[in-house]
Order: sequence, then C-alpha cells, then structure tokens
Amino acid sequence: MINRDILSMIFDSVSSVIFPEVCYFCGAGSYGTGSVICPECRDSVRLVSQPFCDLCGLPLDTFDDCHSLLCGRCLASPPPFDKARYGVYYEQSVRAAITRLKFNSSLFNIRPVAELLIEAYKTHYSNETFDTIVPVPVHRKRLVGRGFNQVITISERLSREIGIVLDRTSLAKSRDTEPQVGLSRARRLVNLKNAFQVCGPARIANKRVLIVDDVSTTGATVSEAAKAVRKAGASYVAVMVVALRSKTQPAKLDI
Ligand SMILES: [Zn+2]
Ligand SMILES: [Zn+2]
Repeated sequence: MINRDILSMIFDSVSSVIFPEVCYFCGAGSYGTGSVICPECRDSVRLVSQPFCDLCGLPLDTFDDCHSLLCGRCLASPPPFDKARYGVYYEQSVRAAITRLKFNSSLFNIRPVAELLIEAYKTHYSNETFDTIVPVPVHRKRLVGRGFNQVITISERLSREIGIVLDRTSLAKSRDTEPQVGLSRARRLVNLKNAFQVCGPARIANKRVLIVDDVSTTGATVSEAAKAVRKAGASYVAVMVVALRSKTQPAKLDI
C-alpha cells in the first residue's frame, strides 16, 4: 500500500506545477515564497501574542503587577493540561478559511489552515518534544453529510511537517453535545462534561501528548479533551488551537 503522506506530497508537487501559486486569501499572483498566503495577507492576520496566560494561553488584559503571567482562572483552579496556546484570532480571512474547510476538505482548503497551525506550533512549541498528536474528535453524528473531521486533516499536515505520529482514533467523542456557541463558559463545561473518552489508554499512557483543535473561545472543549487524555495516563498534555474567537464575536457557522 502506498503511504498516503507520499501520495499527498506527490499531489502537492504536481499541483504547484499545474496551478501556479496564488494567495488563498486575496488571489494575488505567484510570489514564490512556498506559502499559500501572500506576505501582505500574512501581515493582516492578527497573532495571539503576549500578554497571554502562561498556562492556558488566553490573552491577559495587562501584565500583572506581581509578575505573575497566570490569569485569575488558572490561579484559582489549574486547568487539566500543562500548557495551551492559540495561533491567530478567528476573524476576517482566517475565519473564512476555517469555515470553508469545515465544509470542503479539498487540498486547496486544507493548506492555508494547516499552514497557520504549523506556524503556530513552531512559534509556541519548537523547544518541546511530543510522542503523539491527538486531534479533537467530533461525534460521529456530526460527521454525517461531511464525512471528515477538519481537525484531523490539518493535524495530518502538522504530523508530516514535524515528524510526530498522529493518533486519529484514541480520543473519541462519546456523547453528542449541543453547539457551544452562545453558551457561557460554565454552561459550556456542563455541556461537555465527560463528552470525551480515550479508547485504548495504553497508546496514551506515559506519553507526551499534543492535542490539536481548530477554533476555540474559552478553551472549554480542549479542557475536556485534555481531562480525558490526562485520565488515560499521559505524562504531559499540551494544547495547540489554530484560532481564538473573541467572546463577543457571533459565530453562526460553528459546529
Ligand atoms: Zn494575499
Ligand atoms: Zn490561564
């Protein structure tokens, strides 16, 4: 059987010859940077940069006077992961790209979001090592009509880029939950309670695990996923989310 990563690499090389590179965001012509986002559009993407909480990665309003870089929530109650980080803000072109990918997992739609994920990983985790990448799963009911989980498609690209094994099956969403959008953080946590389960904990036990998700507002989903991974015996649990949605942002297309 031919490895699907090799097939994907061949397809990438062939498609770059047949279809000259154009910017996914603005359609500008070939610029030869190897990126599918042109430098101008890249500059317009807002990164989630300091100050953010050293633990949960959520932005802090200001640097704390006491030199603490932890948010109030983490100080009061530590999260179930060791570290979480967000790449960019979920707005404008980023939002459009992630929404498109949710409904169509063509290579054209995967590449820009995967690129943002890989870049965010390199920014926040280049000094760390992991044994496995675990994408946040969706309940099988949500896959009806789509047939794929977009978080897995972008995680496949990250796995290939950094050479860390992707575990597509250990973490499962065992209970379907109502969409998180519009719920308070407290309601989100109740909604998600015990929604994730690790099947075959032996693959997770004593491993350094990187959980990947595409969009988050309060980190409630990744926290629940982390709880399950932690319970399965992972020695270190980190989280990488591509995009952070501002709490005031409407998000009617969220799933
Ligand atoms: Zn552009
Ligand atoms: Zn925090």
